[in-house]
Amino acid sequence: MDGLEKHYPVRQGLLAAMLGRQPALVRAVDGVSFRIAPGEVLGLAGESGCGKSTTGMAVLDLVTRTAGCIRVAGRDVDLKRDRSAQLAFRRDVQIVFQNPFEALNPRFTVLESVLEPIAVHFPGRREEQLARAHRALERAGLAPVETYASRYPHELSGGQLQRVAIARSIGVEPRILVADEPVSMLDVSIRAGILALFRSFARDMGMAILYISHDLSTMRYLCQNVAVMYLGRIVEYGPAGAVLSRPVHPYAQALMASVPVRGRRGRKRLPLSGQVPNAMAIPAGCRFHPRCPVAMPICSAVAPPKVMLASGQEVACHLMTKTNSQEAQDASDTGTNRLALR
Ligand code: SF4
Repeated sequence: MDGLEKHYPVRQGLLAAMLGRQPALVRAVDGVSFRIAPGEVLGLAGESGCGKSTTGMAVLDLVTRTAGCIRVAGRDVDLKRDRSAQLAFRRDVQIVFQNPFEALNPRFTVLESVLEPIAVHFPGRREEQLARAHRALERAGLAPVETYASRYPHELSGGQLQRVAIARSIGVEPRILVADEPVSMLDVSIRAGILALFRSFARDMGMAILYISHDLSTMRYLCQNVAVMYLGRIVEYGPAGAVLSRPVHPYAQALMASVPVRGRRGRKRLPLSGQVPNAMAIPAGCRFHPRCPVAMPICSAVAPPKVMLASGQEVACHLMTKTNSQEAQDASDTGTNRLALR
């Protein structure tokens, strides 16, 4: 994904339209780039409203991008022009939605639900389609298949429904899977089993998975790399171990500090002051500066460039740039050290 932007124009009144005023824009996603290798799980983290799910929808081309391009296996995907590329893209990129209770047609049996996309993308002999559907159900942990095949969604539990939705997505053997908060509506006791499935799809089937969640503890288990989003942009990206254990960007530090850790009583929380800014009136300079406890004068004027650190973390913060190294040191002494995770 290169330079993704998704801006939504806000509907304006008749008078504003007559006066020729430009409609305001909600900049839900504002310049996001990343790549996911085959067999990799990339976690996309951030608070509600930061643009995570819109990014996922844009990867699937379910929302029209304002700007940016998608490349699958090195090829630009121009879905508007090329019908055959469109069909291949629909097979290559699949999604598992958050809510399994609404993701399935209540009139379809389990087998019919899983067969439907297979019949679209692999027209041909029915036996082969059935074999694919059975394989997908088994991979999703619904074995023996005969026990589930003829059941309807209302006869299944939440965990079983999500497994059917997963089987429906992997039945066409996609290269890329977008998992948008796939366990947040499930009981804690069955989350681990579902997450283990995603891990096996990446490891055994070579799928590239974009795992969108605000549950950072599940990212530690599942992801190789993690990207932290704030107000439509990625502010920190890097290996999951580094980003989750030693975050560098002040927002990422505050986010990680909010994760409860077992047996760590008295651990310092870092509540952020101020409100989440309105995506229609994005602050100048660093978008995080109105809430940042270590903001410097430059932060409200100049957007920080991304800096690659030796740990592999890519961070957009003025504290990382050489020209601000002294200020960074001062800020670090007074502020960042306060933020450091204990
Ligand atoms: Fe804070 Fe400035 Fe870094 Fe933004 S650029 S996170 S305001 S220190």
